[in-house]
Amino acid sequence: MSKAKSSESVKVVVRCRPLNRKEESNGAAGGIVQMDLRLGQVILRNPRASASEPQKTFTFDAVYDANSKQRDMYDESLRPLIDSVLAGFNGTIFAYGQTGTGKTYTMQGVWLDPEKRGVIPNAFDHIFTHISRSQSDKQYLVRASYLEIYREEIRDLLNPNHASAKALELRESPEIGVYVQDLTSCVCKSIKEIEEVMNMGNQARAVGATDMNEHSSRSHALFLITVECSQPGPDGRKHIRVGRLNLVDLAGSERQAKTGVQGERLKEAAKINLSLSALGNVISALADGRSGHVPYRDSKLTRLLQDSLGGNAKTVMVATLGPAPQHYDETLITLRYANRAKNIQNQPRVNEDPKDALLREFQREIARLRAQLNHRKWRSKQKKERVDGESWDRDGDEETEFEEEEDVEVEKEAEEYVKLEEQRLEREKEAIREDQFLLAEEKQRLLGEKERMMGDLRKKQEATEQLTAKYKAMESKLLVGGKNIIDHTNEQQKMLEIRRQEIAEQMRKEREMQQQMLVQDEETLELRDTFTSLQQEVEAKTKKLKKLYAKLQCIKAELQDVNNEHVTSRQELEQTQNELTRELKFKYLIIENFIPPEEKNKIMNRLTFDPEEDQWKFQPLVPASSKSLQMKRRPASTVGYKRPISQYARVAITMGAHSRYRAENIMFLELDMTPPNTASLDRSAEAELNQSPSVDNSPTKDRGVHKSRSWCKNPKSASSSSTISLVACHAATPTVAQ
Ligand code: ADP
Ligand code: MG
Repeated sequence: MSKAKSSESVKVVVRCRPLNRKEESNGAAGGIVQMDLRLGQVILRNPRASASEPQKTFTFDAVYDANSKQRDMYDESLRPLIDSVLAGFNGTIFAYGQTGTGKTYTMQGVWLDPEKRGVIPNAFDHIFTHISRSQSDKQYLVRASYLEIYREEIRDLLNPNHASAKALELRESPEIGVYVQDLTSCVCKSIKEIEEVMNMGNQARAVGATDMNEHSSRSHALFLITVECSQPGPDGRKHIRVGRLNLVDLAGSERQAKTGVQGERLKEAAKINLSLSALGNVISALADGRSGHVPYRDSKLTRLLQDSLGGNAKTVMVATLGPAPQHYDETLITLRYANRAKNIQNQPRVNEDPKDALLREFQREIARLRAQLNHRKWRSKQKKERVDGESWDRDGDEETEFEEEEDVEVEKEAEEYVKLEEQRLEREKEAIREDQFLLAEEKQRLLGEKERMMGDLRKKQEATEQLTAKYKAMESKLLVGGKNIIDHTNEQQKMLEIRRQEIAEQMRKEREMQQQMLVQDEETLELRDTFTSLQQEVEAKTKKLKKLYAKLQCIKAELQDVNNEHVTSRQELEQTQNELTRELKFKYLIIENFIPPEEKNKIMNRLTFDPEEDQWKFQPLVPASSKSLQMKRRPASTVGYKRPISQYARVAITMGAHSRYRAENIMFLELDMTPPNTASLDRSAEAELNQSPSVDNSPTKDRGVHKSRSWCKNPKSASSSSTISLVACHAATPTVAQ
C-alpha cells in the first residue's frame, strides 16, 4: 500500500513548434498537428490518407502549441518538478523528438531574450531565487556537471582537456544508483556562475564539431545539478537532503540512415540507433509492466537514465513535434513513444542524509579550519595578555566554541598582539645596537636572533592569513538562506510571480479534471440513458454504435501501424544481424587461418567478462601490483656465447648448420623469390603471361592462400618470365628512340 502511494507516473507533455519559413514556402497546406490545450490532446492528420479516415488522437498531461510561451510551459509543467528537487527528490526533464523540432529550443532557448529562455535558465533562476528566499537556518551547496554521450562514449564537457581525456566510465552504488566516475563538478554560488559553467560546456561541445547542429543531433547532452540542503531537524541535528536534477537534450530521434554510409559513419549510425532503440525498449518494457527484465544495460544512455525511468526520480518528458506534413511518420512515432512513456511508474523518495553528501564534508572542513584558526588566535591573545601583564584565568578553555562577536574580538586582540610584539622586537634591536658595552660579535648574534624571531612572527602571521582565506573561501561556497544572495525583486513583483504560479497550478488542475470527466462521461453514457420511445432508443443506440465503430476503426488503424512499425524494426534488426554475422565470420576466418591455436588459447584464457562494463576484457599479463616482483629477468648467456641463445640454435650448431645463423635461425623461412612482374609494360605479352604457371595457374591460389615458392626451383617459370622481360625491353626501346 505504502509503495503504491509513493509511486507516480512519468509526466509527458507535448510541444509543437510553428511552421518554419522553408516549410511555409514549400506550400505545406497548414500543419498536420492540431492541439486541444484545454483537454491536453493532440490530433494528428495523415496527409496521405483520405478525408474519411479518422484522425489520430492522443492525450497527454499537457500540450503546448506553436503559440505557447516558454515561461507558461515552465510554470505549468516543470516548476513542480524543480520544487521537488529542492525538497530532496531526484528529478529528470528530457526532451525527445526529431532533429529540428525544438528540443534545444525547449531546454536552452534564446538566452538573451527573457521571453524565450528555456527550461535550463529558468531552472537556474528558480533554484537560486528559492535559496535566497529560504529561512536563514538552511545551508545550501549547489554544484553542476555537464556531459555528453557521443558514439556510446561519455565525455566530460567541464574538463578543460576533455578532447584528449579518456571516455568516462559508469559505476553503480546502492547509495546513489548509477553515476559517472571522475566526472567534474563545479560548485556554483550564483546564477552567473552556473551560467558560466553551462557556457563553458557548450563551447567544449562545439569544439571539434564541424557542424554543431549535426553534432547535437547525434549526441545526447546531460546537464546535472545537485542541490544539497542542510537544516536542523527536531532532534537538534543538522539533516541533509540531496536533490539531483538531470536536464537532458537527447539526440534526434530519427533513425540514422545506414544505407550509403560506410566505415566510421556506419558504426556511428549503428551506435546512435542502438541507444535510441535501447531507450525505446526500456520504455516499452516499463510501460508494459509485465516483462520482468528491463534492458537498461543495453546502452550508456539508458543506464544513466535508469533511475529516471522506473526508479527513484520524478520525470517529465517533453516530446517535441514538427507540424510539417513531410514528417508525418516521424511525428507519429514520437507521439507513440510519448504515449507509451505515460505508463511508466516511478518511485521517487527524498534522499535524506546520504553518506556521500558533499555538504557534510564541507561543514566538517569548515569546522576544522575554524577550530584551527581559533586555536591560533587564542594563543596570540593569551600571549598578548601575558605581555600586558594581566593574569590569565581561562587556561584549558582553548577548544571551546566561540560566538561570532567574541571571534571578532579575539581576531582584533590577536592582530594587536602581533603589532605589539613587532614593536617590542624593534625596540629591543634598537637597544642592542645602542648598547656600548656589548662586543661587536655578541651584538651581531643578538641582532640575528631578534631578526629570526621577527621572521618567525611574520611566518606565523602569514600562515594564519592563509588559513583565514581558505576558511572564508570554503564558507562562501555554502549558501545560507536569505543571506548570501540578495533578492532584488520587490514585493509587487514577488506577488505577481506567486499569482502566475497559482494560475498555472489552476490550469493544470482544470485540465486534469477535464480529462477525468471525459473518461467518466464515456463510462456513464450507458447508465444515464433512459428512453421514452422505441424510436429514441434506436437513435441513441445508432449514435453509440457509430461512435464505437469509429473507435474500432481507430484501433484497427493503430494495430496496422504498430504492425508496420514492428516489421520495419524487425527488418532493421535482421540487417544488423546479417552485418554482424558477416563480420564475425570474417574474424573467425582470420583466427583459423592466421593465428596458431596455442596463441588463440592463450588469448582465450586471458579474456574475462566485466559485468560492470558489460563487455569482455583482457586480463593484464602480469598483475599490476606484483609486476616488478614477477617480471622475469632477461636470461644470462651461456658460457662461451655472446648472447642468450635458443635451444634450437644450439641444436642447429651441433648439427653443423651455417655458423652465421647459429643465434638467429629459429625458424626456417622460405624466401619469396617470385620474379618482378614486368608484364604491364607490354600488352602483347599479356596472353603469354596468363599462361605462365608461376603467376596465375598456381594451385595454391585456388585455396585462397598465397604461398610463396622459389622460382629458382622452377626453371620453366623462370625462363618464361625472362622472355617477358626481354619482350618488354624490345617494346620499350622503339618508343624511347622516337
Ligand atoms: P532540435 O534541438 O530539436 O534539433 P532546435 O531546438 O534547434 O531543434 O530547433 C530548430 C529551430 O526551430 C530553431 O531555429 C528554433 O529556434 C526553432 N524553434 C523550435 N521550437 C520553437 C518554438 N516553440 N517556437 C519558435 N521557434 C522554435
Ligand atoms: Mg538540438
